[in-house]
Formats: sequence, structure tokens, C-alpha cells
Amino acid sequence: MSQKSMIKRACEVMPGGVNSPVRCWQSVGGAPLLIASGNGTELAAVDGSRYLDFCGSWGPLILGHAHPEVVEAVQRTAAEGLTFGATTVQEIEFAELLLECIPYVDQVRLVNSGTEAVMTALRLARGVTGRTRILKFDGCYHGHSDAVLVSAGSGLLTGGRASSDGISADTARQTLVAPFNDLDRVADVMAAKGDDIAAIIVEPVAGNMGLIPPADGFLEGLRELSTKHGALLIFDEVITGFRLGPTTFGAIHGVTPDITCLGKIIGGGMPIGAIAGPRRIMEHLAPVGAVYQAGTLSGNPIAVAAGLATLRILHESDPYADICRRATAMSVRLNSHFENADLNAWCAQLGGMFTIFFTRPPVHNLQQAKTSDTTQFAAYFHHMLSRGVYLPPSQFEVSFTSAAHTDAEMDRFARTVIEVVDLMKAENVKSQR
Ligand SMILES: *Cc1c(COP(=O)(O)O)cnc(C)c1O
Repeated sequence: MSQKSMIKRACEVMPGGVNSPVRCWQSVGGAPLLIASGNGTELAAVDGSRYLDFCGSWGPLILGHAHPEVVEAVQRTAAEGLTFGATTVQEIEFAELLLECIPYVDQVRLVNSGTEAVMTALRLARGVTGRTRILKFDGCYHGHSDAVLVSAGSGLLTGGRASSDGISADTARQTLVAPFNDLDRVADVMAAKGDDIAAIIVEPVAGNMGLIPPADGFLEGLRELSTKHGALLIFDEVITGFRLGPTTFGAIHGVTPDITCLGKIIGGGMPIGAIAGPRRIMEHLAPVGAVYQAGTLSGNPIAVAAGLATLRILHESDPYADICRRATAMSVRLNSHFENADLNAWCAQLGGMFTIFFTRPPVHNLQQAKTSDTTQFAAYFHHMLSRGVYLPPSQFEVSFTSAAHTDAEMDRFARTVIEVVDLMKAENVKSQR
């Protein structure tokens, strides 16, 4: 059966043919690939075509596809039973390892996705503080629960606007939305509404409007303002946890949040999420405290086995310096080419996270990210695909390099980007004549 007829079949039985919207390639056009398998850095589509992968399943695959030790741990565990709905030894070991890696947390609760982690963190923050409102940042994504599917409304102090149908205006109004990296605006909001704000939630490195690192002093400022006004600071580290070092970004950067949300990498490719924090906060959760939270498959043996195997490998082999060195060499090379060729492009990069924006720097917030030429991005995406490189199919996503990406593969990537942007420049010149 051809790939095209398979996609048609998918669209009959699943809305848009997908189980998560960005998979349908809406923003780049064309028919999405149907994936058959992955191995290391390589993805194979059902039509037999092969790609060097920089999507990494949107973040979890820091060891590459089908790492033998992770697969073996899953197979061994599966043979002993898939789920018990009761605590296992591996869960305890997993929690202990997480806590060993993150210096400022005492306890962890496992859930099944990043969305669930954030939802739980917000309820916990409201339960601990007895307050209602949340402050988030425009362009940060925190999963698809009601409270955080909210974008900037007409005024900073009047609350946000639901960014999806099906979310009540009342719910959206409880979430205030400030521009990322703008501490002055946060200070204004806290001065006016601080008494009613349960939590400030932020991706400490923004990864869902393309890659945007925090400005100097931004996270430190959020920490100060939260403390001053009695709000909790939540770092959503669903992407950044174990992405830039064998710990959280908060630990690397030296800013301690009250609650940390984790997901993606800590599940090693299986569905997982977690919230972690100091005992005085975590023990507000049921059954010790009065903030209710539960899950039939929470901490299930398979996800824990994949996560434990992944974290052990990261903890012991510490591939981060190599990942960072390779990605930095790539971004320096690309940016010097973009500059020399006078191209409207910029490669933002931090460790093994990067985004090529089709705009000029600086890109410090959503408004600046949105100046990117998404038509150019779509052309770039398809040129890269036709040369065997698979990227996240949207300008406003992060690409990932894994421990499996070699120097030769990073070189191939950089050469391909340069070839493609030069080709696009020539095409643009021609079309303008
Ligand atoms: C992916 C992501 C989530 C949501 O996680 P899911 O497992 O997809 O529910 C939350 N926050 C951030 C920062 C993410 O990147």
C-alpha cells in the first residue's frame, strides 16, 4: 500500500490523521512521513526512505532511537508483568536516582505525561498558597490542560484569552500572560496582582516558540519576585530536564524553583511525567496532604524501566560535553555563513537544542520569533527532507541532537543547511527578477 493511501486511511479514522496536531505538517505543507522504524540517529519511513533525525520524537530520545540497553530493560520488565497498580522496587530506585541528580528536591510524584505534571503542579501551587491565579509567559507551552492553553489577552492584568475552543473565559482569566524575558512587566503584574498569584510558571529555556534562552538575570528575577510576593515558582523542565546536563536546567543555572515539572527524557521514550520539589511542598499531595492527584498507570513498570535505564546511562556516561561541543561547532559555522551571505537567518543553540529562525537576531520573545518567515522555513524543511534530513515540521519548535549524533553527521547536517539556504537565496533572487 502506498504512503499516500495510508495517510488517506489515517485521516478517515483519526482527526487529521494524527494523534497530536503538529504531526500533520500543517505549517510546512505536504504529506507527513509514516515512520516504520528508528535506530540511533536514523529514521526509516514506510516507503523505505531514510533520514538523519533531528526531531528525536520531540525531545525524549537523547540516546537516539532504540538504544539497546533501554530496549533490553523494557523487554525484560515487560516479561514480568506490564502493570500492577502497586509500588515496585524500580519506582523507588527511579525516584532515588532522580533526587540524587537534582540537588534541591526531596520527593517526586510520577504521572503519565508532561501535561499531567503541569496540571498537578498548578493544583499543588494553588493548594499550598490558597490562591487562584497563575502567571505564564507568551509562547511557552506547558501541555494541553485548560489553565495553560491561554495566550496574551487585551491587557496584562485582565487575564489571558483561551487559545483553544472549549476552555471557559473564566478559566482563561485566571491565567495572566507576560512576555518572555521581560522582568519589568512581571514586576508590574506582581505589584498589582501578586497577592492572588499562586505560581509563576516558566520554561527556564523556552523550547516551544523555537529555542529562546533566558536573558541574563531573568530566572533570578522571577525567583526574587515569587519569593517577595509569596507565589511559588514552577520550572517546566519537561524539555530541559536531563537535556543540557544530567540534572535540571535550574540546577545548572543555579536558580531553585519550588516545583519542577519533568517528562520526555526521564521516560526514555515511554509515556511519563513527574513533579518534584521539597518535602514541605510535596507532602501537600494526597495521601499525606489535601491536594488530590492519582493515576492508574502512574509509575508503571515499563515507563520506569525505560526511564531508569536512560538516566543511569546519562548519569554514568555524561555525554553532555560532547553533545554541546558538536552542536556549538555547528551553530557557529551556520551563523557565520548566514552573516557572510547576508541571509535573514539565525541559528539559536544551547547544548543539544537548536532552532534555525528565518529572521535576524535578536530573538528574545514570542513577538521577535514571530518575525520569522515561515514560508522560508517550509521551503527549507522540504529541501532538507529531500536531502535525507528530518526536522520538526514547524518554525516554532526545537531540533535536538542526541548522544548518538557523530561529528560526521553534524558536519553533514551543517553542509546540507548551507547548500539549502544558498539554493533558496538563488531561487529568491530569480523570483524577484
Ligand atoms: C512537551 C511539553 C509538555 C507536555 O508534555 P506531554 O508529555 O506532551 O503532555 C509540557 N511542557 C513542555 C515545556 C513541553 O515541551
